[in-house]
Amino acid sequence: MISQPSMTAGLQYVDTHCHVDLYADPRAVMQEALEQRVAVVAVTNTPSVFEPMLQLAAAFPNVVVALGLHPELAGEREPELSLIPNLSKRTRFVGEVGLDGMKRDPRSQAAQRRVLESFVRCAATSTLMTVHSRRATSEVLNALAGTPAKVVLHWFSGTVSQAREAAARGWLFSVNAAMLSNVRGRALVAALPRELVLTETDGPFVMVDGRPSRPVDVRQAIETLASIWDVDSEEARRLILDNFSRCLSTL
Ligand code: MN
Repeated sequence: MISQPSMTAGLQYVDTHCHVDLYADPRAVMQEALEQRVAVVAVTNTPSVFEPMLQLAAAFPNVVVALGLHPELAGEREPELSLIPNLSKRTRFVGEVGLDGMKRDPRSQAAQRRVLESFVRCAATSTLMTVHSRRATSEVLNALAGTPAKVVLHWFSGTVSQAREAAARGWLFSVNAAMLSNVRGRALVAALPRELVLTETDGPFVMVDGRPSRPVDVRQAIETLASIWDVDSEEARRLILDNFSRCLSTL
């Protein structure tokens, strides 16, 4: 079974990076998203949780499941890479993958690079990849140079010039409430071409109003984007959905 790129039919919003499997009640989160017309890319942190998540999401036409291995788990979960060739046939979506430069442990860094390289080898033009790049922007730009995949930089925290380099490659940027809560994040988003911006929550990790964010909370990001772009929220919503639909049409 391959996730259907027609998933946005009837939907109004998109959360391109949400850890649905990490909520206490994933079904309730997906049901709420369906009722509020939010398309969700459910990222996974290890290959072994992909199939259970795929089964959980099967009843929800608004949810696709991405196959990933989070860079912070690369060291301990690297053996699960053996699952990638088979599982990658079941979805066009990859994530959460990437590189993380918070801990400069050389063994972890080497494992992270091997893990990301494995995903890059399986990626095709029909792959949408949601990518973590905290404190490793230039390393991610290098590691993914030349990939045929549609890259979405999740919670991008690099510089404006690095963002422009990524944008020149046609890569997209998914922004969340935490990123938009500070001046630096808003200035970065203002510098991005609008047609390359998507919304995400990174729930349940990102908190909004003192609670873990859920896919419906992309509406908050839309409000902030509308003010940055000086358009009304309906126009911002439509822009984001169009951007996502365009992505899907190439998968
Ligand atoms: Mn994440």
